[in-house]
This record gives sequence, structure tokens and C-alpha cells, in this order.
Amino acid sequence: MVDLQSQYQKIKETVDASIQEVLESSAYINGPYVKEFQADLERYLDVKHVIPCANGTDALQIAMMGLGLKPGDEVITVDFTFAATVEVIGLLNLTPVLVDVEPDSFNIDIEALKKAITPKTKAIVPVHLFGQVANMEAILEVANEHNLFIIEDNAQAIGANYTFKDGSKKKAGTIGHVGTTSFFPSKNLGCYGDGGAIFTNDDDLAHIIRGIVNHGMYKRYYHDVVGVNSRLDSIQAAILKAKLPHLDKYCKARRKAAKYYNEAFATNKYIITPKVDCDIKDLEDYDGHVFHQYTLQITNGKRDELHKHLLDNGIANAIYYPVPLHKQKAYADERYNEEDFKVTNTLINTVISLPMHTELEEEQLEFITNTINNFLS
Ligand SMILES: *Cc1c(COP(=O)(O)O)cnc(C)c1O
Repeated sequence: MVDLQSQYQKIKETVDASIQEVLESSAYINGPYVKEFQADLERYLDVKHVIPCANGTDALQIAMMGLGLKPGDEVITVDFTFAATVEVIGLLNLTPVLVDVEPDSFNIDIEALKKAITPKTKAIVPVHLFGQVANMEAILEVANEHNLFIIEDNAQAIGANYTFKDGSKKKAGTIGHVGTTSFFPSKNLGCYGDGGAIFTNDDDLAHIIRGIVNHGMYKRYYHDVVGVNSRLDSIQAAILKAKLPHLDKYCKARRKAAKYYNEAFATNKYIITPKVDCDIKDLEDYDGHVFHQYTLQITNGKRDELHKHLLDNGIANAIYYPVPLHKQKAYADERYNEEDFKVTNTLINTVISLPMHTELEEEQLEFITNTINNFLS
């Protein structure tokens, strides 16, 4: 699905030199590279505060702790995402409220979101799934009307832009009160271990969060709140600092592959290609989608057969996600009604994600798309 080795070989010199510098400096925790990467990412995202942490799951948990959410508060998120999003809601004894997604963008369904709001609702967690930014303008409107926090789970869409109706743009993850991301190796900006970060433009919230990630300390050995221990280590920060200047180029390489796929599948009547808000010919330069995954919907009931056929032909592919969260043992709840999850209940049987990374060659794309078009004809 990804080719991290080829990507590394192209930037090996800078990455290796940065790692070597950390080793020579012995500043393994909170060294200068952590601060430098933090500042670089703040500049790249045009956000006032980036607070690095240990992984994307911690980032979500810490964001919720920072906002002061309390047991019993309801937090609305999507039924169709990686479990981390709902897991931390459960861990903090908040009440998760799962809602359906849109069939074309895979992102939160605004009508379902509105329907799920109760007097106990405190926050919305939109997930910019597969690299495409959710309908933030509509989400902001709902949040403003009901006085709710927005926590953007931006683990899959770092580098994507959101364009408002007036033409202005903001980077995904910097639009709500707080945004979170993951630097897991296969994410669009991945390190070589675990890492994550929290973004906000709110000075007070940033201050609270900086204490929470560090055992609730605002002054050394004075613990004002219950915190956690969640750090980005210096080696990972050095790797990320070396990789960040390549992120836009990486996003473009993913979109170039997506364009090839979209064109190759355009006339196949059993395939729905990912929805984008631009003309197919402009896709390479369209900044609203960074294709963390390239996900098709197979409409003739042969998704599972295709999955097997591709594996038999040496083509990696994956089902993201095979089980909706409302049906997972850990998150099932009598409150949920199957009628409310029509889209996710369908998507789990139709979606298939194809190889998507920065190093895809035209020859590989040709082989993958020919194999699929021959099978589904
Ligand atoms: C990867 C991911 C996370 C978790 O990130 P980790 O760094 O693995 O903890 C959270 N949310 C989404 C949508 C993800 O894709």
C-alpha cells in the first residue's frame, strides 16, 4: 500500500545527517529539533500553536482534556473512521455519539450531525477521512449555533486546504478550536516511529495543553491538573523537520496517482471513484484532497472477489473500514438504530483502497488499473 523505503532513499542524506546530529547532541527529549520542527509546522500550517505529542491518539485525548470535557458530555463523531477517534471519547468517560457519513465524500453527514445534537452535546469531531477535508463551513455553522467545540481529527489530511465560500483558504486542522494529527510512518507526513501533534490558534488552550502533555506541570514539579506523559522525541522531530519541506510535493505526487486512477476508471460502470470538487484534468493541483487513501466503491457486489483477485496478482489493497464503529463490541450501544447508518452499513461492503503513496510509477498504475478493469467488465 505504501513504499516508505523508496521515499527514504531519496532524502536519506538529510535524514541521516539530522538523526546523527541528535545522537551527537544527546538531547533525546525536548531537544532543539523538537522546537524547530514545531516552529516550522506552525509556519507551514499558518497556526499560532503546534504542540507535539507522542501519537495521534494521544493528540485527540489531550485535545479533549484541554477543552475541559467532563464525563457525561456528548461528543459527536463519525461511524466510519479509525477507532482511535471514538476510543479516546470512551477512555475519558465522555459519551460518544456516532453519526452516518456522506456516500460520496465519506465525511460527516451534516443532516445526521444536526439530528444528533442534544442539550448534552459539547463537541464535534469531524474526521477528514482519506485526506479530504469535511464540510467545515457547515460544521462551523452548526457549532456556532449550538455553542459546541470542534476538534478536527486531521490524522489523514495534513497539508490539505479548505476553501471557504468567499475564496479564502485554511489548512485542514486549523479551522476548528483545535486540530490533531498523527505522524505514524504511513501517514502523509510520517516519521520513523510514533508521533503526533495538536494545533490551535487559542493562546489559553495552547497553554493548558502544554501542561497536560507534561504531567500537568506548568512550573517544574508543581502539578496543577492531572496530565499525561506524551512527547515527540528528538529523533522523530529531526526526521519530521527534514521531511516537512517535501510535504507539498508528496501531496501532489499522491494527487497525480489519484488522477491516473480516476481517469482509468472513469468509464467503468461498476466503479465509483472518489469525489473531488474539481475537474479531473485539474486534479493534480487541487489542494482540497491529499489522498491519504485512494478508495473506490465497487457497485456490482464483487468487492470481496476483487480484493482476492488483486492479492492473487500481487497487488496490495485494503478494506478501510470493514466494520462500522457502532457495530464494534467496544462501542455498540442500544441507543443506536441501524436505520441511522445506511451509508456506513453499505460502504463496509463496497469500499476498497488501492496502493497510494508518493513513489507510484506509471507502469505500476497501468498494471493495477488494467487488472481491475479487466476483472470488472
Ligand atoms: C492514524 C489515525 C489516528 C491515530 O493516530 P496514531 O498516531 O496511530 O495514534 C487517529 N485518527 C485517524 C483518523 C487516523 O487515521
